[in-house]
Amino acid sequence: MMLRSLSRRSALCAVGTAALVGLTTAGLTTPAAAESDEFRPQLVTVDTPTDADKALLQTLGLDLTEHAGQDYVEVVLHTADDVAALAGADLGYDVRIPDLVAREAENNQANAAYAAATVSSPLPSGRDSYRTLDDYNADMAALASAHPDLVKTFSLPHPSLDGKPINGIEIGQHVTGADAGLPVFLMLGVHHAREWPSGEHAMEFAVDLVKNYGTDRRITDLVNRSRIVVVPVLNVDGFDKSRTDGELIDLREADNGGTATILGTPGNAYMRKNCRLIDGQDTPDGTCALAATSPGGYGVGVDLNRNYGGFWGGPGASDVFADPTYRGAAAFSEPETQNIRELISGRQVTTLITNHTFSNLVLRPNGAAPDLVPSSQGIPLGDPFDEAALKALGDEMAAQNGYTSQHAWELYDTTGSVEDWSYNATGGFGYTFEIGPDEFHPPFPKVVDEYLGAGQYAGKGNREAFLIALENAVDPTTHSVLTGKAPAGSTLRLRKTFATPTWDGSIQDSLDTTMTVGSNGRYTWHVNPSTRPVVMDRQIETISGDPVAEQSWTGTTAPLQSTDQEFAVDQDVDLLEINLDWPTPDDLDLEVYRKNADGSLAQVGSSGNSVNEKERVLLQDPAQGTYVLRVINFASVTPNWTLTAALFNADASTVPGLVENWTLTCEVAGQVHQTVPVVVDRGQQLRVDLTACGRR
Ligand SMILES: [Zn+2]
Repeated sequence: MMLRSLSRRSALCAVGTAALVGLTTAGLTTPAAAESDEFRPQLVTVDTPTDADKALLQTLGLDLTEHAGQDYVEVVLHTADDVAALAGADLGYDVRIPDLVAREAENNQANAAYAAATVSSPLPSGRDSYRTLDDYNADMAALASAHPDLVKTFSLPHPSLDGKPINGIEIGQHVTGADAGLPVFLMLGVHHAREWPSGEHAMEFAVDLVKNYGTDRRITDLVNRSRIVVVPVLNVDGFDKSRTDGELIDLREADNGGTATILGTPGNAYMRKNCRLIDGQDTPDGTCALAATSPGGYGVGVDLNRNYGGFWGGPGASDVFADPTYRGAAAFSEPETQNIRELISGRQVTTLITNHTFSNLVLRPNGAAPDLVPSSQGIPLGDPFDEAALKALGDEMAAQNGYTSQHAWELYDTTGSVEDWSYNATGGFGYTFEIGPDEFHPPFPKVVDEYLGAGQYAGKGNREAFLIALENAVDPTTHSVLTGKAPAGSTLRLRKTFATPTWDGSIQDSLDTTMTVGSNGRYTWHVNPSTRPVVMDRQIETISGDPVAEQSWTGTTAPLQSTDQEFAVDQDVDLLEINLDWPTPDDLDLEVYRKNADGSLAQVGSSGNSVNEKERVLLQDPAQGTYVLRVINFASVTPNWTLTAALFNADASTVPGLVENWTLTCEVAGQVHQTVPVVVDRGQQLRVDLTACGRR
């Protein structure tokens, strides 16, 4: 499907109606200085009935959440300036959480009550509260020391900007031994500082696997057949600030019934980005931890999940440092993303899950819509080559918790996310989980429910979804397998160097992975396909400029009245476009219905843009039949309008792909003895005997 699905909800009169009172100061100060007339950060639902509205919203520099649907996006408003920006764009919104400070305090109370009432939660670890950064590091170290042959800890190569180590664990049978060519499953948490459940899920899954290893057959088998790498907190600086600032002190209690009215600002509790304080420059270690809070904690920093190289610099990633989705000075400019790049480039990661909050979604590549054309490519992005398989796995995982499985771009366009880079550069499958229905870090019992499943999903939940992802990681039909003979103890190396397309150019990528041949002189190596998805065949559709049929009407419609026109779609076409035009400054709206056999009408599209924008409805693959085009005059005088309906056909074509190879070398005592180019497809098992490697 090359064109965006553009069905819309009626959204007449979608102008700002939220109260704009009491917004006197921009920015937040220290907790004690807060006053009642100060703006309190709030979570709002912005009406975005059209793609144009979503695109407009993305230009305002606001803090968009991942909670969005066809006709809305939830946004954190941190300052009165944010409110003014929204009002200035004439986008309507409803306030959902009017005071995130108060909500943070409520959650803290709920968390304290749950922890006090709970000896051990049903989570694998039994935890009853959110971990701090120290807790994560201690828990990982404890897991490794209790299971030295099954778990090992590691620090990623680059410390954070503030000088903190970024730690992870690797789980597998004989994990401290040589790499035996098993497929790697990667689980990531906390790209975005405030998304605490994303780290909890990653950590609990690690504990789950270790705890059940040796007793649960399914888990034991999966662990024996893979290496599981877990980095629960990637954005260590941001998370540490968010988590610490999130522990609000209720000044009313401290004041013992006195006059204090404030709970403390959330400071960085809703921080999203990393600790880049000055764009393109490093600052001394520890500076960020001591830095005063920026408004809402989001002004400075790089959005780590817009900083990866895959189509970096494209739509849905800002080039403005202060913006919440700032992409960074260059692709992989940040130590956090560089770490993940090196990790994935050095292992055969066949499946990865990257956890976020919130929105009950399982997102798959690509992040940008298929009809968009990166200038580095010159042709539309199209769907990923593996769309059918990516969708099938996404659907299966989403079903475990009632989440929605969709393309990432269906939320809104993004570029520079981890899986857009990893999938297009390595072919390994990657998914974003947006955990939970409605908050970045809800009361802790919600984390328990999302992980284990609750209600009709009890016993499933994200735990089961993660196990399904791990099953995919080890399933040889979803990746490639090299097998054959080679000298016992020799090192096999697979290498590839290539240009990864960014939006406007490219970056150089190198994959370099090794395994050690076992004592029997045979090897089996689970690897990703040699040809990258980004260079494979691409199906694209192109609409010719001329309609195959067209009809126009003119008329006038009195205020609060509507006028209907009928239009017949009498052939199979790819697109029905309906345009409504009139002289400015008046405003009309358009609704489109399909006539059912019994004469009743089913709405199939609408367009309710604000003043100065004309109305347009696009219907993809419209069913044959009679359509009713309704011109609505909501509040204008009586303008003359022109209504046009046009049918278009699109030409499908295939842009032929390339074939790429791995370079396989066999090394003995550091010397390369044999080099073989290897072409291997997804699902293919290829035998490559490296017996010459044993001869000098
Ligand atoms: Zn996120």
